[in-house]
Amino acid sequence: MELITILNRCHRFRGFVYQHARFSADHKSIEVGVRPRKGSTAICSRCHQPARGYDELAERRFEFIPLWGFFVFLLYTMRRVDCRRCGAVVVEEVPWGDGKRTLTKAYMLFLARWARRLSWKETAAAFRTSWDKVFDAVEHVVTWGLEHRGLGQIDAIGVDEIQYAKGHKYLTLVYQIDPDITRLLWVGKERTIESFQGFFTAIGEEVTSKIAFVCSDMWEPYLKVIREKCSEALHILDRFHIVAKMNKALDEVRADETRRMRLAGLDPVLRKSRWLLLRREENLKDEQRFRLRDILRYNLKTVRAYLLKEVFQQLWDYQSAAWAGKFLDEWCRHTMRSRIEPMKKIARSLREHRELILNYFRAKKTISSGTVEGLNNKAKVTMRKSYGFRTFRVLELSLYHALGKLPDPESTHDFF
Ligand SMILES: [Zn+2]
Repeated sequence: MELITILNRCHRFRGFVYQHARFSADHKSIEVGVRPRKGSTAICSRCHQPARGYDELAERRFEFIPLWGFFVFLLYTMRRVDCRRCGAVVVEEVPWGDGKRTLTKAYMLFLARWARRLSWKETAAAFRTSWDKVFDAVEHVVTWGLEHRGLGQIDAIGVDEIQYAKGHKYLTLVYQIDPDITRLLWVGKERTIESFQGFFTAIGEEVTSKIAFVCSDMWEPYLKVIREKCSEALHILDRFHIVAKMNKALDEVRADETRRMRLAGLDPVLRKSRWLLLRREENLKDEQRFRLRDILRYNLKTVRAYLLKEVFQQLWDYQSAAWAGKFLDEWCRHTMRSRIEPMKKIARSLREHRELILNYFRAKKTISSGTVEGLNNKAKVTMRKSYGFRTFRVLELSLYHALGKLPDPESTHDFF
């Protein structure tokens, strides 16, 4: 069986024929000649319609999927057309290629699918190609996917930020968090009003107007955009961010008190207590639990802050927004009298966002902000895989590729 026979079986295009397959001079690659079928018309790459031939350009090499350790190239002399529709001389469009990219579409899809399982660097190494070519492949597949994805009706979205480099470099990520589909919808630069507005511009007013639930943290620019764009939607404050804020406040109290006690020459009872206090009690081992009980006997600010945090957790068990509201008010009142400034700060913030927190109960907990948290964790894992260069474009592509559930370009054959 000849190579041409196999190619005709899996990578055949109307209007083109495979001529011959031969080794390159160094025997490292297989080169396959391609030419237009006699009498076939070239397609204008600008308007995608057949057009009159004009002249020919130099031969181009399109890299195909490697075979048994040999690189494979398709060699083709590109034609130019004199397109009356476009009123210009334009290079033809070939069905296996994408503009100026040097890889065939089939090879790009092949590499991009591997790049979902491996890091880009590993993918490049596995197929003896370069990181840049993997980048190209993913860019091609993601661009196609974004152009061809269906947004459908989006009921619920969650917005979150993610830090991707030191020095306050953030991305804004918007997810769809409907019960039947969760996916990344949008990656924006920074976490500003403009970046989040970019999402609404991208999806358009029609889709925006049907959004019923929005889940976010307390980041003011996000709150502002949601008020503006989704005034009809139920806005829910993200439960995990509230818990995270509370843990941060508690940690501040503990660090401060530990320092004071050391300066005063007191017993270092809080030494190594950090994780005991931040972890949920049910997640502690026996000896840790005994240590925690021991610490809780002291009348310390840290202990009082810890108890406030623990009591607060009960909020999420409520079924009705009214009762949850009563509990929240009571907790805030109590905390405001605690004379523990970091906790008071939280109480003030919770009071300020009271309605948004209670929306969690009004949404009958159907929209779980845990979904956002889960997606954001996946996004962090995606970013941690070594991508070579942590530029915005690389992260944007890798995130869409991993979490966007984008459709793949059509292919003549399932090569992967
Ligand atoms: Zn044209």
